[in-house]
Amino acid sequence: MAGSVAGPEIERLVQLLARLPGLGPRSARRAVLHLMRKRDELLGPLSEAMALAHERIVTCSVCGNLDTSDPCAICQDPRRDGATLVVVESVADLWALERAKLMSARYHVLGGVLSPLDGVGPDELGLGKLIERLRTGETREVILALNATVDGQTTAHYIADLLQPLGLKTTRLAHGLPVGGELDYLDEGTLAAALERRTEL
Ligand SMILES: [Zn+2]
Repeated sequence: MAGSVAGPEIERLVQLLARLPGLGPRSARRAVLHLMRKRDELLGPLSEAMALAHERIVTCSVCGNLDTSDPCAICQDPRRDGATLVVVESVADLWALERAKLMSARYHVLGGVLSPLDGVGPDELGLGKLIERLRTGETREVILALNATVDGQTTAHYIADLLQPLGLKTTRLAHGLPVGGELDYLDEGTLAAALERRTEL
């Protein structure tokens, strides 16, 4: 390989790592060198963990989370509040909410948001499956925890309309000031949302 200083095996590792989000060829090369240096402490355990993940990780058929069991640990947990269902765009969002330990609800991962330009419609998001789950389950409140992007909010409104006939309480996350945020740094949209949804002290 022209310009290559390492053998094809190492080059392949660099190229694969460079495909990870946030890593370019340069940082991938540094990561590979680090792995080589920490052969026993890092490279060995990492490759074992990856092989295991590749073998065992599945998508939960109930909520769309990723786990080593189907249904996932969250869906199987009897202590979870079955009355509240949190709808999120991605597994990353589900994990972010779980890390914050704010509630003990159940989830539904859409796997995307409505985006007509990219050909993502209600069928692609499996909204029928969500409705079916709500119709047969014990859910009383649906929290639409979707991103504050145009597509995220369009999707939230679409789902809210879809849920209306079911007579469930439907809420969405508030928009406004981030905790620790300074007014001077905020964009106009965030300021407008914070003003619009101001609360009484
Ligand atoms: Zn699940």
